[in-house]
Parts: sequence; C-alpha cells; structure tokens
Amino acid sequence: MFTLSDEKYITAFSAENEPVLRVPDGATVAVATQDCYMNNLRAANDPRGEAKGPAIGCNPATGPIFVEGAMPGDTLACDILSIAVGEYASMRISNRSGFMRGRVTEPIVRCVPLKDGFAELAGVKMPLDPMIGVIGVAPETGEVSTEAPGAHGGNMDSRLIRAGSTLYLPVCHEGALLALGDVHAKMGDGEMCVCGLECPAVVMLRVRVIHGRQERWPVLRGEDGSFSVLASGEDLDEAARFAADAMLDFLVRRSQIDVNELILLMSLVCHLEVCQVVDPLITARVRLEGGALPELAF
Ligand code: CA
Ligand code: CA
Repeated sequence: MFTLSDEKYITAFSAENEPVLRVPDGATVAVATQDCYMNNLRAANDPRGEAKGPAIGCNPATGPIFVEGAMPGDTLACDILSIAVGEYASMRISNRSGFMRGRVTEPIVRCVPLKDGFAELAGVKMPLDPMIGVIGVAPETGEVSTEAPGAHGGNMDSRLIRAGSTLYLPVCHEGALLALGDVHAKMGDGEMCVCGLECPAVVMLRVRVIHGRQERWPVLRGEDGSFSVLASGEDLDEAARFAADAMLDFLVRRSQIDVNELILLMSLVCHLEVCQVVDPLITARVRLEGGALPELAF
C-alpha cells in the first residue's frame, strides 16, 4: 500500500503539476487530506488551539498521483475503500457567500467535534456520512482551480462520493494526475450554506485504469449498483441538461434498447438530483437506480 501525506497538495488541477507519487495500475493508496480551510479555521475558544496559518478556503487537494499506464482516452476508476475523518470539523457562514447568504444575519465560525460516528450542532445529534468534495484529474487544457468542478471532476461536492462507491474519471494526460481533498464528515444535497462538516481525513482508495473507454463527465457507481453522471454548468438548468444528455449517451452505449425507449425508461428509473449550488459552477447528477437495467457495467 502507498501513503501520501497532506503536505503535498495542489490548489489547481493542471497537466503542468509535478506528480508527488507514482503508483502502478491497481495500487491502493492512503491519502491524507487537509480540510478546505487548510486545517486553519478556528472558532472562539477552539479546542484545537492556535492555527498554523491563515484559514484560506482554497480546497487543498492532496496529489497529484501519477497512475502508471493511464493514457489520454482511458478512464481512471477510483474505488473509494474508506474515509476516516479527523476529530473535529469546521463550518463558516457569512452574508458574502453561499446560496443562503441573503438570510445570514451574523457571521459564524463553528468547531464541531466528530465523535463515535456522530456530530452535534445546535443540540441536534446526527450520524456522520463522510464524502469527498474534491477529486479529479488534470483537465484537457489549462488549469482549473480546486474550487471549481468540471469534466475533470474537481469540486463536485456529491455526497454519493463515499466509501463503497467507484468514481470513473476521464483521463486527458498520461498518468491521469489524480488529486483529492475537501472531505466532509456530512453534507446535505446542495451544500446550501456553502460548506459541509469540513474536516481533515485519510481516504483509502484503489486506482484502476480502464483502457480505451471514456465518458464526457465523471460517472459514479454506488454501492447499491446505481450509476450517476455528475455534470456541471453555469446554472442548475445547464448542469441538469448536461447530466441528462450524458446519462442518455451512457445508456445508449451500453444497451440494446432503442433510444426512445431509453428516454421513456429514464423518466421512470433515473433521478435528477442536485450535488451543489455554491461552487463557481453548479453540479447536478442524474442517477440510475441500482439494478434498474440488467447487467449494466461501466
Ligand atoms: Ca467543496
Ligand atoms: Ca467543502
């Protein structure tokens, strides 16, 4: 097994980034990740003590990891084996960011202990459901901030990117250059206030190269056998349109069923859902129920 410390991180996905780890196809890697504020956000009387630096909300993503054998036109499958969260999570709201900013009357910074699989906020105790906010590969051209989502993955903030799922990312450059971070111990669909339970973590994942196969957008297989296409756009309408079109393309390539019949079926067994509405682009997913279509595989 390979390990990667959270000191090696990027703040933009790019083919220009130097890999910090090289692994063979099929390798398992334990990746330590900082929280989105570089582990430096502190509330009043914070039990974590002094911060080591400014609380910049830059979504540091640990990596990039060079996966041997991954070439443009391939897909990188990332099996998320486990997500171990730290002891504390942070949240921050203000009237300057987030879907609910117009309703915020007072800025808040909160430190939330994560204990025995639960968190408590405002007297409400809730089970944790860890997920990865940022995970992606080098984009086809240029660089993309780790604050943005896209066809390369990135800041998609889908709560379904959790242990037991497999994320399929389109490889655009040799080695793929995988990086990840911005783990949330819990988050609701939409991430409406602008953050989840932001926490450091150790993510265990296995990387596999699927040669000569690629989708336009990241695809996620859930533990329940569901398949989701994760697409991002300027607004929710555009993101939804991209995700629906990509799901139909995904099905057409894998099914003998006529395209019009597939459109009928999509309306019955596919669900249009919101990942997040707060990053520079909006991310939607269309999720095909597990087992709805027989023998469907990536
Ligand atoms: Ca995020
Ligand atoms: Ca986040």
